[in-house]
Amino acid sequence: MRDDLKLYSGPYNRAGTPTWTIYDPARNLYFQIGWVSFEILCRWQLRQVNQIVQQIADETTLEVSAAQIQEVSEFLVKHDLVLHTHQAQTIQKCQRYRAQQQGLAQRLLHGYLFFRIPLWNPDQWLNRHLDKVRWLGSRQFTLLTWLVLFVGLIELSRQWDSFTHSFIDMFSLTGLFSYGVTLVMVKVLHELGHAFTARHFGCTVPRMGVAFLVMFPMAYTDVNDVWKLADKRQRLLVGAAGIRTELTIAAWSTLVWALLPAGVLKDSAFLLATTTWISTVLINVSPFMRFDGYFLLMDWLEMPNLHQRAFALGRWRLREWLFGLKHPVPEHFSRSRYQFLLTFSYVIWLYRFVTFLGIALMVYWYFPKPLGPILGAVEIYWFIGKPLWTEIYAWFEMRKEIMSRSRSLKTVLVLAVLIGIAILPWDPRVSAQGVLKLPVAQTLTVPASGMIARVSVMSGQQVSAGQELMQLESPDLAFELASLTKRQQQLEQQISLSQLLNRERQRLPVLQSQLANVKVDSARIKAQLAQLQITAQTDGKFVASELDLRQGDWLAERTIIGKVLDESALSAHVYLEQSSVKRVSVGDTAVFYAESGVIAPLALTVVRIDSDTTRNLTDGILASVHGGDVGITEKESQRVPEDALYQVVLRPQVPDSNAVDNELRGRVVIYGKSQSWLGDHLRYAAAIFQREAGF
Ligand SMILES: [Zn+2]
Repeated sequence: MRDDLKLYSGPYNRAGTPTWTIYDPARNLYFQIGWVSFEILCRWQLRQVNQIVQQIADETTLEVSAAQIQEVSEFLVKHDLVLHTHQAQTIQKCQRYRAQQQGLAQRLLHGYLFFRIPLWNPDQWLNRHLDKVRWLGSRQFTLLTWLVLFVGLIELSRQWDSFTHSFIDMFSLTGLFSYGVTLVMVKVLHELGHAFTARHFGCTVPRMGVAFLVMFPMAYTDVNDVWKLADKRQRLLVGAAGIRTELTIAAWSTLVWALLPAGVLKDSAFLLATTTWISTVLINVSPFMRFDGYFLLMDWLEMPNLHQRAFALGRWRLREWLFGLKHPVPEHFSRSRYQFLLTFSYVIWLYRFVTFLGIALMVYWYFPKPLGPILGAVEIYWFIGKPLWTEIYAWFEMRKEIMSRSRSLKTVLVLAVLIGIAILPWDPRVSAQGVLKLPVAQTLTVPASGMIARVSVMSGQQVSAGQELMQLESPDLAFELASLTKRQQQLEQQISLSQLLNRERQRLPVLQSQLANVKVDSARIKAQLAQLQITAQTDGKFVASELDLRQGDWLAERTIIGKVLDESALSAHVYLEQSSVKRVSVGDTAVFYAESGVIAPLALTVVRIDSDTTRNLTDGILASVHGGDVGITEKESQRVPEDALYQVVLRPQVPDSNAVDNELRGRVVIYGKSQSWLGDHLRYAAAIFQREAGF
């Protein structure tokens, strides 16, 4: 063994056995080993396998085999922990070194995805300043910070509106710049938190610098030295120190923000508070990537290489599930830990898939043209494509074994069905938001003020031309008519009397002209009274207005009491994109589903397809400004659709319009030409590619 290696006793592992850490000062690397390996290494100088086995059996409660000794030996060679005395070993080592020096392309690629720049050896500086910051880790200060956090959060909830408003105000160029500067400051403090805490427990901190993950800079501190700490609590404290620093800043700045009057100081406190809250809560605590949260979880569970071990278990479970290989479990865990690791690995895969896809899209949009798509593709390949491909390749390697299992057949069948569903043209549905319209044939208004004598039809009832809908009466007019009739009778009597008496004869012309006037007036009033009977002018459906009309109610002139809708003109309108409209032809059947289901689904037939795009959307109810799906821009009081859309008109197969009141928004599903589900998406992808390839 190399004699520059150092051996430290480490923490006890979950099984309750001690562990040790081998430290390689030349490369600043740590290797954790278990009890068996330790006992073997202690007797390495015996050089004979059977002597080592014998001595361990004599001196300890352990029993080791020759195979275990061989394993330890291979481990030492693989990690360059042994002295190379033979030429063959040296040559091997050179080859391994060369294999590590990958090709230039590979290195560039990897460099874009991840690289580190060490900037500073802070060990001396930390030593000099440690005493000045020790109080930050004291119990008193921690308790005070909890109190500050508590009060700050209460104040925050009381001033929540003002907080969110300030947050929205920050979305400007200067705001983003301020956030950038604050974030850098906070991250430096975060790293110093780790470094000082490590130093406090006596670890050396050889390097601090910047690491780049997908071109995104992140500060890092080399605290590998904590592996030699035997106390798990101390290691956890070093790991949590960054988050603790940020939470401390978050707590104090939140309280300061809440207490200060408006001004520059309040704004700075706001910046600090939001930056630390977001970076701590959203990023650092997450155990899904290799941030602090992950290392803390790993230490807390006492499971080094948590990700790899969870992934191995997840991969194993997936293969068993797909192929029923009956391979042994990679590691044995308790039931609850097994479940946890399995869930953990699947959640991480999902999380990474979504996150890296999101980052790739951002890279694609924000980097200039030839670079953006290339870098985005590289990232998707590296973080999503490559792991997937590695697994599929592993299946390919195991193909003989896989094909011998009956479970594989089932998986292939299910897969075939799924692929079939995706590529076979089985889906004839063309679906879009549409409107069902019933045009108004007659609007019913009150001709003269009056009282309701009779309501003859109910809202929603069918009516035919000439049918009485409502009878009004007007006591004023009735009284006037009565008095006119009386006056007419009087005049007629006077006229017959005048004709009998000669001395009255000269009054006759006056009386006759008065009688004529009275007759004209009463004819006029009779006509007005006749109007008080409100009748339908066409066949259709009567729909009452919102007013609740009853016998005896008074109505003012020109009040709208309802309308008659022309049922023969009931139609539905939808607006389709070119790719969809191509699949629809006149005569296709369709179904209208009303929004919120106010009427039963209505069967329709396509009667017209426009060959020109719609320039003015007459069905305003479908426009985005009214909560519809069609994006429009308003130009000179016209609603111009943003996309090229074609109007399709449909008619009900059976003219039934129960409960349709003028217009009703809903979804129209037309059964047109079938298409495959994948085809639609592939066409869309091809269209995007065609558009974007033009760089
Ligand atoms: Zn950290």
